[in-house]
Amino acid sequence: TEVVYLITAGEVIDSLSAVVRELVENSLDAGATRIVVSLWPQNWRVRVADNGRGMNLDDLQQAAAAHSTSKIRSSADLWKITSLGFRGEALHSLTTLADLEIFSRPVGGNEGYQVVYNESGEVVKLEIAPIAPGTVVTVSNLFANCPARRQGLPTPAQQMKAVQGIIQQIALCHPQVTYQVWQNDRELFTICPAATVEQLIPQILPQVRQSDLHFCQLELPNLEKSVINLVIGLPDRCHRHRPDWVKVAINGRMIKSPELEQTILSAFHKTLPRDRYPICFLHLAISPDQINWNRNPAKTEIYLNEITFWQEQITQAINQALRISEV
Ligand code: ADP
Ligand code: MG
Repeated sequence: TEVVYLITAGEVIDSLSAVVRELVENSLDAGATRIVVSLWPQNWRVRVADNGRGMNLDDLQQAAAAHSTSKIRSSADLWKITSLGFRGEALHSLTTLADLEIFSRPVGGNEGYQVVYNESGEVVKLEIAPIAPGTVVTVSNLFANCPARRQGLPTPAQQMKAVQGIIQQIALCHPQVTYQVWQNDRELFTICPAATVEQLIPQILPQVRQSDLHFCQLELPNLEKSVINLVIGLPDRCHRHRPDWVKVAINGRMIKSPELEQTILSAFHKTLPRDRYPICFLHLAISPDQINWNRNPAKTEIYLNEITFWQEQITQAINQALRISEV
């Protein structure tokens, strides 16, 4: 078995980009198709607005309460593709680290509300507010009460780079959504929705065209509900003089898996000419029973059963794809 590290918010919210990840994941969980992230790094403020299903009054009152909102009933739920949230503690932790305000109006609801929470996650202000269906979460004065954490962070420019990286990771896993990012009231970038990830990648790797990429899908008959989705750069067309670009995701979440990354790299290196570099996005759909749960779901790691099996399948899939591209 291999330990796989989830690149996710996790144990701690330690940066602006970690806040962005949590809020954007909540928007995706709410079914949003348009997500606008606004940052004012100098003011330690982040706002995420979405057109998702919104929250009713009950949800809003509970949203930041301690341990009351977890959608996870069992550890297997953790990997249901439909839900990224699983600890029910992001908003609660945010109230201990920052000022939290939420505007939300449920789809089909007549009214929206503005709610302000105190540092224990309790509602201290609740008013009717005229907003469109969806949710706007604003986190301000992040880390105001822990100056050491602020001092440990890189410059605003570097933090914005980190935010961009996180939005790109999320977009690769959820391409059918518009992501717009603003910094200090100016639009920084937008990732347009794409039907498929290979249509989205050129927005992230501007030197790459969609026709440079090849998508293949491998269903694993022996493992129920398990699918290997692979997008690779064609060796004759692209990725000259660029570093390797290898990303791995499982069930909608980007992961860090040195072993799988190594498997991908060696498969490419056998075929690629010297001056070409791999481009690969591997997205595994794995039935939750194939994953060995770490006892503590707040931890950002899981164990993959039968890693050698996966490595063989992935190598085969890449070899096949590279061979097809030579024809
Ligand atoms: P989790 O995502 O693990 O459930 P969070 O603390 O991130 O925990 O969110 C708490 C709850 O608040 C969510 O379960 C969800 O019901 C609600 N919520 C948060 N953000 C949104 C949003 N953008 N749209 C709709 N509901 C939301
Ligand atoms: Mg969440």
